[in-house]
Amino acid sequence: MLTVLESLKLSTTFLENKGIESARMNAELLLSHILECKRLDLYLRFDQPLKPNETNIYREYISRRGNFEPFQYIVGEVEFYGLKFFVDKNVLIPRQETEILIETILENTSKTNELKILDIGSGSGNIPISLAVNLPLSKVISIDISAEAISVAEKNRELHDLKSRIGFIKADILINNLEKYNNTLDIIVSNPPYVNKDEFSTLQKEILNFEPEIAVTDFSDGLTFYKVISEKSKSLLKENGMLFFEVGQGQAEDVQSIMMKNGFKNIEIIKDLDRIERVVVGTNK
Ligand code: GLN
Repeated sequence: MLTVLESLKLSTTFLENKGIESARMNAELLLSHILECKRLDLYLRFDQPLKPNETNIYREYISRRGNFEPFQYIVGEVEFYGLKFFVDKNVLIPRQETEILIETILENTSKTNELKILDIGSGSGNIPISLAVNLPLSKVISIDISAEAISVAEKNRELHDLKSRIGFIKADILINNLEKYNNTLDIIVSNPPYVNKDEFSTLQKEILNFEPEIAVTDFSDGLTFYKVISEKSKSLLKENGMLFFEVGQGQAEDVQSIMMKNGFKNIEIIKDLDRIERVVVGTNK
């Protein structure tokens, strides 16, 4: 029977040999997930022998991580904006920089308003759920092209008990007509697939081999969704309604001019914690 320390050492070496960055950290985090303890508490348990089923699960996790599967898919969950979300290979793993998108929306809205919000590209449901939790009178509609993603988002909606205020709909923004919402929305938000087709092939294996490609790239110039959503948002938003986009590195100015062409005013660009231009926001005329 291997102890905690022995297992950690073997796993770290295995992950290092596979070329995984921060191998020891990965080994510790996966083991602490199995033992349901904090990572640092492993240090108090170095001599504890692992039970056979713990060793088996750990072996499986380490082998998956050695194969470049993202940590979050292995443990099946992630924290976003202080909330827990289930994730699997059908949804994009929520990113820290997307929290800036939520923060920007919250800074531009009031908790006491009965806002009607449309989110385009539900994924795990991280955006609609974070907004609904923090804007207690809001109602959110969130669309996604993938039925599998919507099932994950619905599980997360259940986890946060928000069925009465969030509706998920399977729809493709490039095709479907959302005209029944014309002139009814206060806010439209999207973190669309924005990686262009050339950059896509250069992404790290964790993304390339595991995350859903339709959530990452538009297989074109990276701007497809900004163009379509800006165009459609004009009639969906109420007068003075607001459009919020997350953008990829280097896209903010292009997105700004797309929004200007569509008549949006008061356009602002907000940087993330790495000082990368990350959110573009504008007001409907
Ligand atoms: N809205 C989800 C997120 O921000 C999914 C986005 C996507 O799939 N492109 O993580």
